[in-house]
Amino acid sequence: MIRYLTELSLDAFIEAARNVPYQQIRSDLFPGIDLWIRRDDLIDPLISGNKAYKLIYNLLEARAQGKDTIITCGGAWSNHIHATAAAGQRFGFHTIGIIRGERPPTLSAMLQDAERFGMSLRFVPRKLYHERNESHFLTQIGIAQERYWYVPEGGANDLGAKGVALLADIIRETRPVAFDECWVACGTGLTLGALAARMPDRTSLTGVPVLKAAGSIRKSVEMRAADDGRELQINLIEDAHHGGYGKYSAALLRTQKECEFIGGLGLDHVYTAKLVWAGAKAIERSERKKSTRWLDELPRILFLHTGGLQGRRGLVG
Ligand SMILES: *Cc1c(COP(=O)(O)O)cnc(C)c1O
Repeated sequence: MIRYLTELSLDAFIEAARNVPYQQIRSDLFPGIDLWIRRDDLIDPLISGNKAYKLIYNLLEARAQGKDTIITCGGAWSNHIHATAAAGQRFGFHTIGIIRGERPPTLSAMLQDAERFGMSLRFVPRKLYHERNESHFLTQIGIAQERYWYVPEGGANDLGAKGVALLADIIRETRPVAFDECWVACGTGLTLGALAARMPDRTSLTGVPVLKAAGSIRKSVEMRAADDGRELQINLIEDAHHGGYGKYSAALLRTQKECEFIGGLGLDHVYTAKLVWAGAKAIERSERKKSTRWLDELPRILFLHTGGLQGRRGLVG
């Protein structure tokens, strides 16, 4: 049974994460593998996907330190801004979202949600936004909050990584089969890196960068994963970004649509459709599709559904 995030406690979060279903996919799109999808898009309708894991320890720490305001930043379609605004409303924090760029005449559907969830939006010119990780940033843009907790863009701090490490532990505990491979879409690479530091030994990791920045993603993954001295095998698929962040092709949208027919699997064009597209491509290129082996002899592959479905509204046309 699915449990949503109805209260702010580690126990309640772990309970919800343990109840996230693994969906086995049998489809001609993925011949020659035993494919499973962990549906973290279902952990909560609003505080969804990997952003829920990156937020949990940040929220607990903010609460423990008596902070009443969460401040964070992102772009006009940021899943992290959306999740943070929803979490603030649900658990009783004020939220301030520092948004990159000018305030547009019409807010994106994501930003409209964020305002509706009670987040106050602060638009910052792109040039200034570049300084978001400097210590003087908040005073520079004139935010003088006293009891605030600052979460960097995308939830990419150590507490964010700790939440993703918890996800790895939960996968180890709840996996229906021992996976040979685990695949995940990468933005900053924090999720892949933090998973790599904790995944069960025999599961190799593959990341699918959704923007043209495989180099810096690899660096960030290696930094996070270097925690323990294990020999890590991390692959990055560098040709699945479709021209960059938020860019897409007709073929990508076709993959997205087809997945809706196989088990009601909703994907977004920014992250998870690129993951699935890259997975299908990898099979096409390999000899796997010619395999006639029995199901229990096939490679067992896990795709992480990292949420982000709200972002589908940004698909124009
Ligand atoms: C943010 C996000 C990612 C990328 O996570 P990183 O830790 O930044 O690599 C992947 N999928 C979805 C749906 C996201 O919202």
